[in-house]
Amino acid sequence: MAGPPPKPWPTGEAMQLEPLVRRVLAPNPSPYTYTGTQTYIVGLGDGCAVIDPGPDEKEHLLALDAAIGDEHVCAIMCTHTHRDHSPAAKTLAARTGAPIVGCAPLVLDDSGPRADASFDRTYEPDRVMEDGEQMTGPGWTLTAVATPGHVSNHLCFALEESGALFTGDHVMGWSTSVVIPPDGDMSAYMASLEKLYAREDTVYYPAHGEAVEKPRQLVRGMIGHRRQRENQIVRLLGEGPHRASEFVPKMYKGLDPRLDKAAEMSVTAHLIDLERRGLVARSDDIWKTI
Ligand SMILES: [Zn+2]
Repeated sequence: MAGPPPKPWPTGEAMQLEPLVRRVLAPNPSPYTYTGTQTYIVGLGDGCAVIDPGPDEKEHLLALDAAIGDEHVCAIMCTHTHRDHSPAAKTLAARTGAPIVGCAPLVLDDSGPRADASFDRTYEPDRVMEDGEQMTGPGWTLTAVATPGHVSNHLCFALEESGALFTGDHVMGWSTSVVIPPDGDMSAYMASLEKLYAREDTVYYPAHGEAVEKPRQLVRGMIGHRRQRENQIVRLLGEGPHRASEFVPKMYKGLDPRLDKAAEMSVTAHLIDLERRGLVARSDDIWKTI
């Protein structure tokens, strides 16, 4: 993973990216969020959508208030319900009266592994968008593109007027997406990458990191990167059985130790995908080739 760019970062300021799109960076940098979550405001000034309102933190909500001003908020839209993306939706909805629209809430087991602390349990959408469904406002149309994998409820939003795609955490320029089973699913993630590769989007606006100006090139590279990881895993299993954690030091040289667990989960996501395809098997937590 690349390190963040040098400070200062433009936290709290609305940056105009194109006539219809502004971006506000939240003050929540971390190894998982890079410089922080980026909230996008779509509209020309007479009615907007707010995409991924971000963490429910006062400083960020004040910045959003300042950026929105008197403008009518038509919809608050969430790509998925990780806690760095959706918790501010409720507060913003209460302030503006706008409906919460977009991804489905996750059905979480109370005690199972999907009931992970990273999920926002407060998320309650007024309208769930299915693949291909649209939300419109003055001068803009946003189409939902279902992209499960990073999490099962992930949506991207395509801005029809300009060809931009808001990619949430599915595709980011600074890092590959973290896929954590059992909710994260590598087979679904790869299919969602192929889905974007088949599209003609002109630019990606991810929730973390800079805009991606050559989106198909990046997606092709990511598909190749995942195939490489998969080949590495199969090669290492050829040398003998492994626990998922034993792959990490061999595959991720120089990794920030805070990301060891995420890397192990990503390896596990690959192993589950290979198991489904009949290429590897496990007994307890030991994996081997067939
Ligand atoms: Zn996420």
